[in-house]
Amino acid sequence: MRLCFVAVGIVCATFVSVSSAQEDDPVAPIVARLDLDRYKATIKALTQFGDRRQGTPRNRAANDWIHAQLETYGCANVERMAYHYAPEPFVDPPLGMAGGMPRAIGGGRPRGVRVPMRANTDPLRQSDVALRTLNAEPTEPGPRDQVLCTKVGATRPDEMYIVSAHMDGQGWGEAANDNASGVALVMELARLFSAADVRTERSIRFAFWNNEETDYGGSRAYIAQRRALQGREDPPGSGRYPEPTWLGLIQHDVLLFDHGMPRADGTVSPEQRPEADINVEFQGASTFAQQSQALAWHVQAANEIYATDYPVTVGNHMASTDSEMFMNIVPSISLRDNERGVQIGAGWNPHWHQATDVFATYNDKDFRLGLNAAQTTLGAIGRLVGATVLKAH
Ligand SMILES: [Zn+2]
Repeated sequence: MRLCFVAVGIVCATFVSVSSAQEDDPVAPIVARLDLDRYKATIKALTQFGDRRQGTPRNRAANDWIHAQLETYGCANVERMAYHYAPEPFVDPPLGMAGGMPRAIGGGRPRGVRVPMRANTDPLRQSDVALRTLNAEPTEPGPRDQVLCTKVGATRPDEMYIVSAHMDGQGWGEAANDNASGVALVMELARLFSAADVRTERSIRFAFWNNEETDYGGSRAYIAQRRALQGREDPPGSGRYPEPTWLGLIQHDVLLFDHGMPRADGTVSPEQRPEADINVEFQGASTFAQQSQALAWHVQAANEIYATDYPVTVGNHMASTDSEMFMNIVPSISLRDNERGVQIGAGWNPHWHQATDVFATYNDKDFRLGLNAAQTTLGAIGRLVGATVLKAH
C-alpha cells in the first residue's frame, strides 16, 4: 500500500508498507509486551501528585518521579530541560467564522448537541478533602523544567522522532485522563524501546512537556533552545548527536474517554461507546499539512495491524496541544480520545479539566482505549525507526 505518492519530503521517504502483519514482523513482539495492568498502574501512580499543576511542589514531585522511573527503564540521557515561566494573558482563539458558519477550535464545524465547556477553578468541587488540600498548593512564576530521554538509534543516531505528552494538569482532580493517560503511554513506550534486547536504526526522543495548560511554555522553550542544534555531531567525530534532526512529532493528550455526544438533556453515557475510536489529528492549515497527513495515515495503518480493539479516525483539525507548536516546523500529529475542537469542545468529555478527572472515574473499557493508542503509536513508530528484537545467543 502506497501511503503517499507525491513529493511530500522526508516523512514520505521513510515510510514503509504497513498493509499487513507478517509472521516475521519485527515490531509485533514489542507491541505484544504492552500490558493493560501496567498501563493502569502507571496512570494510578501519576495521580498521587494530584492535578500536577505547573509551578507547584506537586508538579516538581511528579517530574522527579517520572525522571526516576525512566532511569529504571534504562532510557538513555534522562535529562531535565530548564526554562523560565512568567504568565502572560493567554486566551484560546475566538470561535472563527467562515462563510458565516461558526467554527470550533482547530477549524471544524460543530454539529449536534453542544454543551459549553469551561475548566474548573472551584476547589469546593473536589469532595475528597485530602486531594483538595494537595491541589491547594499555589503556583508561582519562575524557573521550570521538564523531563526528556532518548532511545539512541544504532545506525542513524542523528535522526529522531519525538514521542510526547504534557505532564501538567489543572481542574482540582487528579488529571487522570488529561493527561496521566498520555504520560503513561509515553513512559511505557520509553520502557519498551529501552529494553536491552530492542534495537532501533533511528533515534526516538520521549518528551514530557510542562506548562501545556498555560501557554505550551515547555514545548515552546524546547523549540527555542533546541531547534538550531538539530543534526550536529558534538563533539565532532564522537558519533554523538545531542539533538538529532527532527523527523516528526506525535503528541498524546487525553486518551481514555469516548462515550459519545451529549444527549439532548446534556448528560453523557456512563459507558465507553462500542464504536469508540482514537482520533489522530493533523492541522490542515499548517505548513507541514501534507507531510503531517501522511504521518497520520501511517499511524492509522499501524492501528489496523497492531491495535486489538479500537480503530483510528484521522481528522484535519489538530489544535490546543503541544504538537501545534511544532506543526509549521516538522510533520506533527496528536492522538486523543475525541476530536479536540468539535467533540471535546462540545462537551463529549464532561471530566475535561474538572474535579472528576480522577482515576476512579474510569473503568477498563476506558483504559483499554488508551492502551490501544499505545499499541498504535508503538507499532507506527517502531516501523518508522526500524525497531527489531535482538535474538538471544
Ligand atoms: Zn491535555
